[in-house]
Amino acid sequence: MIGNVTVGGDAPITVQSMTKTDTRDISATMRQVRALAEAGCHIVRLAVPDLEAATALKAIRHNSPVPIVADIHFDHRLAIAAIGSGVDGLRINPGNISRAEHLRTVVSHAGQRNIPIRIGVNAGSLPRDYRPDQPLAERMVALALDQVRMLEAMDFRLIKVSLKASDVLTTVDAYRLIADRIPYPLHLGVTEAGPPICGAIRNSLGIGILLQMGIGDTIRVSLSGDPLLEVDAGNEILRSLGLLSQGASVISCPTCGRTTLDVSSLATRVSERLRTVKEPIRVAIMGCVVNGPGECEHADVGIAGGEDKVLVYRSGAFIHSVSSDNAYDAIIREIDLLLSARSGAADWNAR
Ligand code: SF4
Repeated sequence: MIGNVTVGGDAPITVQSMTKTDTRDISATMRQVRALAEAGCHIVRLAVPDLEAATALKAIRHNSPVPIVADIHFDHRLAIAAIGSGVDGLRINPGNISRAEHLRTVVSHAGQRNIPIRIGVNAGSLPRDYRPDQPLAERMVALALDQVRMLEAMDFRLIKVSLKASDVLTTVDAYRLIADRIPYPLHLGVTEAGPPICGAIRNSLGIGILLQMGIGDTIRVSLSGDPLLEVDAGNEILRSLGLLSQGASVISCPTCGRTTLDVSSLATRVSERLRTVKEPIRVAIMGCVVNGPGECEHADVGIAGGEDKVLVYRSGAFIHSVSSDNAYDAIIREIDLLLSARSGAADWNAR
């Protein structure tokens, strides 16, 4: 359990992200934590660079709608301070907290409060002299296993493990190599994965391959960009693999010379509007009648560009047409009606 969220076993795969604010700035960090939670993030991790940040975690944890994990590097005393602030989990990096007595102190405090520890191995911070002759994925696994055994020897088993590299195939190899060797949940991710498009692709491949192999319990998509995009990407990976039914799925065509509708801007606006919707809803936004009606017939709400009008679909059936200037309003109206009907507040068919 990370707070009230189950990770591992038969529990649903959870999506995590990390704040990008200065943790010492409590109000800015709280705004981001809340936005992440509203976007569907189950667990939020925060950097703890110093004691002031560790102390700030107390107010943040108190006000957070989701469990908070403290990300600790170098100084084990920050882990102890974060535990004192009431965090729900710790991430430590065995590459930079390696002294056994320091680890023992952290484990003792975590054990007293039942706080899980993620052993977060990162290819970028492996000790240089650690098994230098072995392939990178094997070095990462060996380091994680060393740390797991150390925690087990201290009679601590609230363990999660991650083995992240910026290279997709190294990441996949590392998780594959460790999956059958430990009984603990695995936190998946490709790290330092780049700006949003590149990073989303690398993470989709790495995380997607592993989840499809049955490996992994919780995921974080690392992007150089807005953390809300990390949550969007994580949830979309799960939806694409049939591991999540909640939330909006927007289908839109790539557009071409036949397009009679500004699909790109409509799809972006509708996706943003639906970001916090938890209901499963499929929305199709299509540029013309070549593939438009077919996709709209498989969607809860759809629009397709017509000759001089936009065709609006509800539950797969054409209902009426509007001018392209009114396309956004028409689709949002249908979505709102659908969501109201599902919540029992309106009859969707009684327009
Ligand atoms: S649906 Fe129409 S506009 Fe969109 S890509 Fe296909 S042919 Fe082009």
